[in-house]
Amino acid sequence: MQRRPRLRVLAVAGALALAAPLLAGCSTAHGSARTVVTSFYPLQYVAQRIVGTHAQVTNLTHPGQEPHDVELTVRQTAQVEDAEVLVYEKGFQSAVDDAVSQVGPDHVVDAARAAGLSGDDPHFWLDPTKLSRVAVALERQVAAADPGHAADYARNLAGLRSDLAALDRSFRTGLASCRTTTIVVSHDAFGYLGRRYGLEVVGINGLSPDAEPSPAHVRALQDLIRRDGITTVFSEQLGSRAFADSLAGDLGIKAAVLDPIEGLSDATAGQDYLSLMRQNLRTLQKANQCT
Ligand SMILES: [Zn+2]
Repeated sequence: MQRRPRLRVLAVAGALALAAPLLAGCSTAHGSARTVVTSFYPLQYVAQRIVGTHAQVTNLTHPGQEPHDVELTVRQTAQVEDAEVLVYEKGFQSAVDDAVSQVGPDHVVDAARAAGLSGDDPHFWLDPTKLSRVAVALERQVAAADPGHAADYARNLAGLRSDLAALDRSFRTGLASCRTTTIVVSHDAFGYLGRRYGLEVVGINGLSPDAEPSPAHVRALQDLIRRDGITTVFSEQLGSRAFADSLAGDLGIKAAVLDPIEGLSDATAGQDYLSLMRQNLRTLQKANQCT
């Protein structure tokens, strides 16, 4: 008799390198493999922490790919269809929204709903307490799909929530006493982080990293930077750094990377959500002269 395969977790946003060898198996065992798909990196991270060794996680956004712009291949749409558990963020990646509405897997977690989002800023994962809420919702679905390992999933979730709570404490204490509380960022991804930790976040661009700032907006930014004594303009890993670099150069201040952690790239290989968040905290403390 064929035994039930281990739960497979597919993340919609990314790890195709990881997914490719798994897919070969999937196509021959169509419909029998239990799968979890995630749509972009922070969801992949959460899924991997929860399933531990009981499953493989596949992410739909390729490493280095901008998740806002993701398009799904036919093969990835099939992965969504075959997933027993899928976690995505409704309203963030329209290609994924379309696939989910067309082929809806059995167990779906909408991270936007689980995190309690309102408004049009999708970047909730930069508030660890919101990512923790998504982890709770995902664990519930994973345990429902694979009740035989429910105790392990519950234990893994507890460990993850403990790490996220510790990260939240580090940010609160680390940013409690700073010379400036304003940050200028190239990709306006840090609204949730700013609200949680008392930062005023000013975007060079809009919510999409592709938008071009207007000349009037650039002048307002320059005035703000001079007035508030801002030392650093932040750009990101995945997007273009050119504009932030030139703005910083014009004003004689620094440009640094604040990572929106939408995905991993060559520059962040070997890191994970927690280490990138801690790196962001150190970067913010230095730029805002926190004590
Ligand atoms: Zn973004």
